[in-house]
Amino acid sequence: MELRIGVIKGDGIGPEIVTEAMKVLDETARVYGHTCGYTQLLMGGASIDVHGVPLTDETVAAARSCDAVLMGSIGGDARTSPWYQLEPSKRPEAGLLRIRKELNLFANLRPAVLYDELKGACPLKKEITEGGFDMMIMRELTGGLYFGERRTVREDGVMTAYDSLTYNENEIRRIAKRGFDIAMKRRKKVTSVDKANVLDSSRLWRKVVEEVAAGYPEVALEHMLVDNCAMQLVKDPKQFDVILTENMFGDILSDEASMVTGSIGMLASASLNETKFGLYEPSGGSAPDIAGKGIANPIATILSAAMMLRFSFDLDREADAIENAVSRVLKEGYRTIDIMSEGKEQVDTKKMGDLIAGYIQ
Ligand code: NAD
Repeated sequence: MELRIGVIKGDGIGPEIVTEAMKVLDETARVYGHTCGYTQLLMGGASIDVHGVPLTDETVAAARSCDAVLMGSIGGDARTSPWYQLEPSKRPEAGLLRIRKELNLFANLRPAVLYDELKGACPLKKEITEGGFDMMIMRELTGGLYFGERRTVREDGVMTAYDSLTYNENEIRRIAKRGFDIAMKRRKKVTSVDKANVLDSSRLWRKVVEEVAAGYPEVALEHMLVDNCAMQLVKDPKQFDVILTENMFGDILSDEASMVTGSIGMLASASLNETKFGLYEPSGGSAPDIAGKGIANPIATILSAAMMLRFSFDLDREADAIENAVSRVLKEGYRTIDIMSEGKEQVDTKKMGDLIAGYIQ
């Protein structure tokens, strides 16, 4: 199979970590008989330096012509970088917001995986984390409270602010379908999170999710109120497989879930649209504090590449091969500095990429 992949190396540690992810992708393609064709795309600070803007129309068109895009991170140090002297619409992050919008990336996927080998980094009690956990948070990204009408007015002499939370059934249906599709590739359980005891939007959410669930008889569906979910994430994270939720609840819960895994350098993410197209990137930023030092952890980007193979190309065996190689490297005691602990062997970014590529089988 020919994989047409757009690559945004980005800023800061972006080029270092993406290079390692491409190395692992190339090796996986070699072992499984595929070819990777890469189109290099400029976005963020790297695009500002060349074109004066964080994303050009040509780059959007080039991204569209690919099957998926793999991205490092964009942005710099806001206190020192000249990119932040520009007006907000010209700064690096504006490129990311625009590409998400242009490509209609409405479904955000953030896995929160606690590897048994890294459980020392988890702030939860040992009895809770024994054996690790593995969940996927699927957050609606383009609707709800963050995109609703808002205004601040003075009413009877009192300042009053309004934010409206709106979802229509089509928006709920398309994200729910994505959630169930992903559960079919995992342990076949969906926990739909809402606040249906209070909000109309949540009651509609629940109704539509149930309709969608009828088309997936193999997937177990449960509903959970968001306040309970926030508690359950720290009380018993193992119970979750796919958490399906709306924009604001997902924003908060995905940060909570990633914190309990303990390390930002390990967290992959993806944003998908209605087709198989997706943008895959590490959850962390461009880490300007360690850029150029060769010490960044490339694993989040490598795991993002595995997600890309699974969700955009339906190459589950190949994605498993990457995830297994990451587990093996961790089991054998290799660590980048951010996840280093006593008795383990510290390696740099490049060595970590070499080791993972070497374990692809
Ligand atoms: P950050 O995630 O870049 O860094 C936070 C801390 O985590 C730093 O100490 C950093 O060294 C560490 N870290 C992050 N990724 C790491 C990795 N792979 N390996 C080892 N350590 C890692 O967050 P920040 O400092 O708040 O933001 C820096 C820049 O990144 C800003 O310009 C911000 O806007 C941008 N940013 C971009 C994205 C994106 O591209 N999607 C996301 C978040 C932040």
